[in-house]
Amino acid sequence: MAKWVYMFTEGNATMRNLLGGKGANLAEMTNLGLPVPQGFTITTEACTQYYEDGRKINDEIMAQIMEAIVKMEEVTGKKFGDNENPLLVSVRSGARASMPGMMDTILNLGLNEEVVEVVAKKTGNERWARDCYRRFIQMYSDVVMEVGKKYFEELIDKMKAERGVTQDVDLTADDLKELANQFKAEYKEKIGADFPDDPKEQLMGAIKAVFRSWDNPRANVYRRDNDIPYSWGTAVNVQEMAFGNWSDESGTGVAFTRDPATGEKKLMGEFLMNAQGEDVVAGVRTPQPIAELQAVMPEVYDQFVGVCNKLETHYRDMQDMEFTIQDRKLFMLQTRNGKRTAQAALKIACDLVDEGMRTEEEAVAMIDPRNLDTLLHPQFDTAALKAATPIGKGLGASPGAACGKVVFTADDAVEWAAKGEKVVLVRLETSPEDITGMKSAQGILTVRGGMTSHAAVVARGMGTCCVSGCGDIAMDEENKKFTLAGKEFHEGDAISIDGTTGNIYDGIIPTVDATIAGEFGRIMDWADKFRTMKVRTNADTPADAKKARELGAEGIGLCRTEHMFFEGNRIDAFREMICSETIEEREAALAKILPEQQGDFEKLYEALEGNPVTIRFLDPPLHEFVPTEEEDIKKLADAQGKTVEEIKTIIDSLHEFNPMMGHRGCRLAVTYPEIAKMQTSAVIRAAINVQKAHPDWNVKPEIMIPLVGDIKELKYVKKFVVETADAEIAAAGSNLEYEVGTMIEIPRAALTADDIAKEADFFCFGTNDLTQMTYGFSRDDAGKFLDAYYDAKIFENDPFAKLDQTGVGKLMETAIKLGRPVNPKLHIGICGEHGGDPSSVEFCNKIGLDYVSCSPFRVPIARLAAAQAAI
Ligand code: ADP
Ligand code: MG
Ligand code: MG
Repeated sequence: MAKWVYMFTEGNATMRNLLGGKGANLAEMTNLGLPVPQGFTITTEACTQYYEDGRKINDEIMAQIMEAIVKMEEVTGKKFGDNENPLLVSVRSGARASMPGMMDTILNLGLNEEVVEVVAKKTGNERWARDCYRRFIQMYSDVVMEVGKKYFEELIDKMKAERGVTQDVDLTADDLKELANQFKAEYKEKIGADFPDDPKEQLMGAIKAVFRSWDNPRANVYRRDNDIPYSWGTAVNVQEMAFGNWSDESGTGVAFTRDPATGEKKLMGEFLMNAQGEDVVAGVRTPQPIAELQAVMPEVYDQFVGVCNKLETHYRDMQDMEFTIQDRKLFMLQTRNGKRTAQAALKIACDLVDEGMRTEEEAVAMIDPRNLDTLLHPQFDTAALKAATPIGKGLGASPGAACGKVVFTADDAVEWAAKGEKVVLVRLETSPEDITGMKSAQGILTVRGGMTSHAAVVARGMGTCCVSGCGDIAMDEENKKFTLAGKEFHEGDAISIDGTTGNIYDGIIPTVDATIAGEFGRIMDWADKFRTMKVRTNADTPADAKKARELGAEGIGLCRTEHMFFEGNRIDAFREMICSETIEEREAALAKILPEQQGDFEKLYEALEGNPVTIRFLDPPLHEFVPTEEEDIKKLADAQGKTVEEIKTIIDSLHEFNPMMGHRGCRLAVTYPEIAKMQTSAVIRAAINVQKAHPDWNVKPEIMIPLVGDIKELKYVKKFVVETADAEIAAAGSNLEYEVGTMIEIPRAALTADDIAKEADFFCFGTNDLTQMTYGFSRDDAGKFLDAYYDAKIFENDPFAKLDQTGVGKLMETAIKLGRPVNPKLHIGICGEHGGDPSSVEFCNKIGLDYVSCSPFRVPIARLAAAQAAI
């Protein structure tokens, strides 16, 4: 028979998966001999079972709970519902990973009209008894029956107003008794039944409520944001109460052994006298700093400091603790490795190594790579942010903080920025032609689009803050205004956006520049020592490449050449190329582009100092580049010696119903070989020049042909790429070496990788397209229905942000298994957005990739994640 319930004395810290973090640590603290009110933990497996049984607690689990109650009654010498010595408990949730405030807790369970009379009389502390009872009814109603908290708070406020007091603690026993009656009446009105009197019925209701709370909407969102699987379930802890509301010599508090904001080694925390549970954090009264406890109760303070030291030494990490003092007696209610800012995480990890508590490997493993993001971008001033209320929320698509004046077009962004204004570009969605505008903006806010929408990908690449897909915005681009949270915003109105949380604020919230402190470098050096996989970057411009090098990139895994065409007036020649009708016209246009591209590539090779650079040939559907404005169309017509009508006809002919599966990638090179030839010449000439200037570097271009699905496509394109390259090399009298490889981003390419490896020098998994094509989800539109998928538990994560290891991953593994034996020199990487996602990086390490490539600002994250994968 499975064991579903453990007494605190039966568990320990290693049983976290089964007992949840809280339960495992309550058991561990019990084992350490610390003062912990005793009780038992119902396992996370029981929670999973509860859902499997159709949201029911089965007989076997029920029987074990009943047994545990009996044991608990023996240990405490108290009994549920007893008139002599009643047992009062808390029922607390506790998942494997901490989810603060996401699930529910009920205190003082076991009280009813009779019991409350008994304890009031027996203890002579009537006020306390009444306070416990009214709190219990309030919490139980809220959590178990989902009767809104606010009704009860209204009743409390009314009572305080009637009595002319401002603090809960100033209410008398009679007031509290009266409140309890009002609460019960409220309960009956809302639920249509009497408040339950039987403590065991109360207990079962509470346990079920905790299980149920695993599936509440805010818990679901929190899990998704924090990569916690739904299947884990939550444990339930049933624990004897310690009463911080017993008297003025009682209280409750929370503390950290180190400062969670800075990492500084000092005891931090707050407590509140004559209070219970959430009072400290709920803001009913202002709590006192923990240091003041020393003056109030020196012996309790000393004992507490001793406990803190013991716990930190034991767990070898900063602890976040909850405690309660009842009548000058200390009780420990919780400890866990405390959440911390990225800055604090780095400092604490380094300090623990210096203090001899942790090894370098352990220090590297302690840091959550996702946290590092926040260190690399400007931040909102913490105090100012705390005081602000968000007016809307989208996806935190690219981290950082941005504030500025609203503009609605890329051109306006450029223009305003040139005048020295800080702007936030607000658009329905962005497209490649908005790039210069996006660069000029402090931040980008879009109404549509997911984590891999154009805006999101480009913004992350640039390290610009972006909030995407805020569907609550009612956009009127034409009239340059939008409405959010009932307010109309016009051009020039101030707005602030948080690219980490996705929050949107009215007005300006001041920002501070991020600094990279010494500990950051130390941790990164250690990480580089341990990792075996290389980290490259996706960079399209020399500036991006330089930034990425500073952040530790060891090469470029993806240079998207199309992004180079939006600089200055290069788009003109490019449009001429697209709207050509003959080879001659096209070649004339390409001749104008070639020197520009060559110049860019030279700068990229310079920036990379001999490290590998992969250049992907033109990929997107051509119609993305055609002019849409009347004046641009006219300009193009004049340049081409055509009429406006003729140009419009050409533009119309480029329209595609399904552009992502349309005329793009190597299909462009098949129809217009001259484009690929021009790009080859540009790459090879640039490489030859840079190699000449730096004889000690090993410049070896990697030419990447995108969107290959059939070996014959690759062969066809490769043939003239090689001819062109070899001719360039011969003409220059150079001995330059180069590689031609392909992106694996069409399922068919993965499935026939043994063929493709015969022609390819390297594979690079383009997992954005590979995910799109494998699922058949448009990456630009999936955001619209993914929420419904989350709600229905079909998906827990956005597969465009976190690699689908089961399906897309299997295609990757297949391609590696098929490709490597055919071509032992084949090198393999990934350059989709997943290359910077820690869990995806771990997977890439596992399946044996040579490198991951990600946006410049994710390079440190990938370096750390690769180290953690290798440790
Ligand atoms: P959360 O995970 O949201 O912090 P907890 O289960 O830790 O929820 O409990 C909420 C509050 O109630 C905390 O302040 C905790 O210290 C307090 N609490 C929980 N159990 C007890 C107990 N047995 N005695 C006294 N206070 C308790
Ligand atoms: Mg807690
Ligand atoms: Mg692609």
